[in-house]
Amino acid sequence: MTEILVLGAGMVGVSSALALQARGFAVTLVDRREPGRETSFGNAGFIQTEAVEPYGFPLAFSKLLEVATKRTNDVNWHLAAMPGLFGPLARYFYNSFPKRHRAVSAIYSQLVTRAGDDHAPLIAAAGADALISREGFRQAYRSAATFDAAAKDAERLHRDYGVAMRILSPADLRAEEPLLEREMAGGVDWHEAWACSNPGGLVTAYADLFAARGGTIVRGDATTLAEDAGGWTLATADGPLRAPQAVIALGPWSQELLDRFGYRVRMVRKRGYHRHYKFAQPLRHPFMDTDNGAVCAMTPTGLRIATGADLTRMNAPADLRQIRRAEAAIRELFPLGEAVEAEPWFGHRPCMPDMLPMVGRAPRHKGLWLHFGHGHQGFTLGPTTADILGNMIADGAPDPFGGALAYRETRR
Ligand SMILES: Cc1cc2nc3c(=O)[nH]c(=O)nc-3n(C[C@H](O)[C@H](O)[C@H](O)COP(=O)(O)OP(=O)(O)OC[C@H]3O[C@@H](n4cnc5c(N)ncnc54)[C@H](O)[C@@H]3O)c2cc1C
Repeated sequence: MTEILVLGAGMVGVSSALALQARGFAVTLVDRREPGRETSFGNAGFIQTEAVEPYGFPLAFSKLLEVATKRTNDVNWHLAAMPGLFGPLARYFYNSFPKRHRAVSAIYSQLVTRAGDDHAPLIAAAGADALISREGFRQAYRSAATFDAAAKDAERLHRDYGVAMRILSPADLRAEEPLLEREMAGGVDWHEAWACSNPGGLVTAYADLFAARGGTIVRGDATTLAEDAGGWTLATADGPLRAPQAVIALGPWSQELLDRFGYRVRMVRKRGYHRHYKFAQPLRHPFMDTDNGAVCAMTPTGLRIATGADLTRMNAPADLRQIRRAEAAIRELFPLGEAVEAEPWFGHRPCMPDMLPMVGRAPRHKGLWLHFGHGHQGFTLGPTTADILGNMIADGAPDPFGGALAYRETRR
């Protein structure tokens, strides 16, 4: 008999299923697709133990102007999305001010710095070591001004949080990445972060581990979730399922399901694109052309180029502006071949306006749990917040951050 339904089989849902299974629960994991086929499939694959501070909204007037006039490639936006995004974006902006951002980072840093340790036993048990490189990534800058600012910031992160890093001169960068064809102003070597060459493959390996340990995975539509005599029912491809408890781990789709139960959660869903390109020789490490909002990493399909944030509606058609510019930038740096796919992939980072994931009870429904909103670092944080959720469900453990991860109602 299923004791807990986990809805959503991305990195967050699969990690939840494993954490609950490890605590002795009979868990059924439900998704409308195969595990790890959505946001957790298409990301850049970094297990970002260096990302101790979540990405705030830029506050400097010059940067805001760049965003407003679409001169930066980090952020793109669409007028049609603004009515729905205005409230959450305004709160995201508020939480980006230094005092709030420091308070959020004090919590965030404790989550990300344990992420490698939380992934490690899963990687080993899943036999997925070949997917992981433990040599970090290189973040490069073209302009002296952005490099100087980034170097100061990296030193601050090292001082304040102990993040391992090395400032790279142009010569260091060339030595680190011999395929680099253009002189850069400098870079930062985040050598303790990890990189996964196949993010969807790692989620699949974790899902296979869950199944090998006796867990059940079924296809089903989470929108059929209904409360029933103190428990939860769901229609699946294998017939109706019933369980006393359910976890919502639907990533960027979580807010629509919660609407149906009277919970109002509004995310800033930041779309990102990727595309693969033929690439004859492998890059040594994943590489960021920061000034052009482009990240690239080797995958089995080719060199994956991924982009920053496109503030658009979930169902809006693809806007190729950022991926085209990212591709052009990476072509200036490396011997990039032709694109592998006809169209780029896109997915949506589920970002909470206060930049902290939501982990805890749905306060007005017995046996309903929330686990989503990991923003830019859900691939990193899945096992970590799953462990916190597991302790809450199994032992009634409190939120370790005094309620900061608990359900937060969005004002109407
Ligand atoms: C371009 C890009 C680059 C990124 N790079 C990184 C990175 O390097 N490192 C990092 O840590 N993070 C990165 N992220 C963020 C990270 O990918 C996300 O935070 C993370 O994947 C979210 O995981 P999730 O399990 O919450 O959501 P998802 O992976 O989207 O999983 C949600 C699941 O719910 C299922 N679902 C939805 N609706 C229903 C329904 N009605 N019924 C049944 N199932 C349903 C979906 O099929 C899906 O499997 C990046 C994101 C993007 C877009």
